[in-house]
Amino acid sequence: MNENAFRIGHGYDVHALRAGLPLVLCGVRIESERGFVAHSDGDVAIHALCDALLGAAALGDIGQRFPDTDPQWKGIDSRILLEKVIKLIGAKGYVLGNADITIALQAPKIGKYVLAMRESLAKATGVNVSRISVKATTTERLGFVGREEGCEVWATVLIQKP
Ligand code: MG
Repeated sequence: MNENAFRIGHGYDVHALRAGLPLVLCGVRIESERGFVAHSDGDVAIHALCDALLGAAALGDIGQRFPDTDPQWKGIDSRILLEKVIKLIGAKGYVLGNADITIALQAPKIGKYVLAMRESLAKATGVNVSRISVKATTTERLGFVGREEGCEVWATVLIQKP
């Protein structure tokens, strides 16, 4: 078997929360009094997923690909960035095998949005929803997540040559 037939990648991102801003996770608008401070739409879950995909293909990171100093990415829907990343790994011959995402957010509770988030990511990446896992947790009120100052996301992916 080709040693590069399967590769794994890991991504991590954090965004701060502030009152009056929109909260978007995995392309889904979440009802919330607070949202993300960011150059893009602040979709911290998609950013972690993009970094996992880029990492799996050793293609750098989201900050290099879409610098926050570049006005063309200001306020951008992160699903567009994700679609671009899927094209980048596609150019190397890879498709997404599966993704597993863990979102640490103290409030609001996001469990009821999980299916919509999975469907949104499946659409943006062009895979069946069964290949996308989204899990939500709190940090039991510990740390910056627990104090509701921010959101932390970890993403793991497998990419494969079809
Ligand atoms: Mg980010």
